[in-house]
Amino acid sequence: MSSAILTSRFSVRTCGIISSRPTTTRFLAISSRGYASTSGDYDVVVVGGGPGGYVAAIKAAQLGLKTACVEGRGALGGTCLNVGCIPSKSLLHNSHLYHQAKHEFKNRGIEVGEVKFNLEQMLGQKEKSVKSLTGGIEGLFRKNKTEYVKGWGKITGPNEVSVDLADGGSKTLKTKNIIIATGSEVTPFPNIEIDEEQIISSTGALSLKKVPEKMVVIGGGVIGLELGSVWGRLGADVTTVEYLDAIGAGMDVDLAKNFQKTLAKQGMKFKLGTKVVSAKKNGNGKVDVVVEPAKGGKQETLEVDVVLVAIGRRPFTEGLGLKEVGVEVDNRGRVVTDAEFKTKVPSIRAIGDVIVGPMLAHKAEEEGIAAVEYIAGGHGHVNYGAIPSVIYTHPEVAWVGKTEAEVKTSGTKYKVGTFPFLANSRAKTMDDYEGLIKIISDAETDRILGAHIIGTNAGEMIAEAVLAVEYGASSEDVARTCHAHPTLSEAFKEACMATYNKAIHF
Ligand SMILES: Cc1cc2nc3c(=O)[nH]c(=O)nc-3n(C[C@H](O)[C@H](O)[C@H](O)COP(=O)(O)OP(=O)(O)OC[C@H]3O[C@@H](n4cnc5c(N)ncnc54)[C@H](O)[C@@H]3O)c2cc1C
Repeated sequence: MSSAILTSRFSVRTCGIISSRPTTTRFLAISSRGYASTSGDYDVVVVGGGPGGYVAAIKAAQLGLKTACVEGRGALGGTCLNVGCIPSKSLLHNSHLYHQAKHEFKNRGIEVGEVKFNLEQMLGQKEKSVKSLTGGIEGLFRKNKTEYVKGWGKITGPNEVSVDLADGGSKTLKTKNIIIATGSEVTPFPNIEIDEEQIISSTGALSLKKVPEKMVVIGGGVIGLELGSVWGRLGADVTTVEYLDAIGAGMDVDLAKNFQKTLAKQGMKFKLGTKVVSAKKNGNGKVDVVVEPAKGGKQETLEVDVVLVAIGRRPFTEGLGLKEVGVEVDNRGRVVTDAEFKTKVPSIRAIGDVIVGPMLAHKAEEEGIAAVEYIAGGHGHVNYGAIPSVIYTHPEVAWVGKTEAEVKTSGTKYKVGTFPFLANSRAKTMDDYEGLIKIISDAETDRILGAHIIGTNAGEMIAEAVLAVEYGASSEDVARTCHAHPTLSEAFKEACMATYNKAIHF
């Protein structure tokens, strides 16, 4: 097991990041209070071994509950570790290094010979990071005495999960509680058939054998922009087609505009307010993508080598037997739960991508822990107002809390402060000063309502904003907190100062 995987007794991890949650004494006496099974039955069976499921399973075992986690794909870690967060971040990181070496090193005074890249090696490096992390979770399962049941599970009763074992045969698990953590899958585009070679989903985009000359990305959301950036940096001519008039679905409008300009400067092309009508392989080894203005109008055909369909993800509940057992799903296929993650069947809870809310690994993880805490002690907590979002392009985009439009709609009086990285000393020394920070706070209380960052390392910097939002900090609180110099995080302090109306620079 990788040393990075080792965790303390009360730690669980997502995507290789240790998150430590002190186990309070109220959980320590679980066995004696009758939550833990004394028979051969399980206390908790988790169906799905993604970041929601495996974190829930480890936490349950740590709290003294007899736990099994059923996973069908042959590896733990779910979408996130196998075909999501981890492989995409590996490619984003390495393609960025290549791009820097090729286009920026010279200006920085670093002279190297001809810069070339080896795609096979880059993909191999990605696989290595995936394998070490998925294997690490198996190690955590062993360490925490969490049973890993390999196979596809079906809920065959309120307290029963039947598993088609990967090695053949089947097994029935009797359990007091079931947690559905079956995640999500790529949303198909009507009438566009994915072959994962020329017409690909995000999964195919993580393993292309060669760099396409021309590529169309359908969807200007997080996944499309990240993977479009990867192949753009490696030399593809990338056009993003987006139905809406802005990219980065859900991000603050000011940042979205800024972000689009930045990506355009890097060479990405955009067709916004544009609808994809069809994408079909033509006889020349290419794909014809027919597009037209979203409002209607003249059609245009783009002939490209590869089309990436990235219009979103949908909950995955296939073969789970939900209907038979009485678990309700909504009109978008999401499992319906109450505030304690309970479905209509009280012994069955659901978490992560398969329920309502942002499809994010850390959200799934938070819910997994809270669901188990509800089972073990009756109390759990997820603050949905403090879940960060990050786009790992360069520069990165990260945000938490409300956008300006959302605050405006809510009728709350608010203040906005911004600070550009152009005026941040660390960003200047790094010669990497594109972007800004925008803080929105309540005009009366000064409580921070939203923080929006576009800039290098925004994904790391947002943690400070999340903490501020979680603890109900005011912009003055942050402005009065000493930040090390010279750091990018000083820009966060400055933006808070600007919000508090005590800007010293602008
Ligand atoms: C390309 C890409 C990049 C992403 N990048 C990020 C990122 O940077 N940050 C971020 O936070 N999120 C990212 N995401 C989203 C993230 O991967 C998901 O939000 C997260 O994995 C959801 O976790 P989950 O546990 O709910 O479900 P999943 O990770 O989907 O795991 C569910 C697991 O359940 C298993 N399963 C399903 N049905 C059964 C069954 N009947 N029996 C047994 N097993 C079953 C599946 O095989 C799967 O392994 C990305 C996604 C993609 C596709």
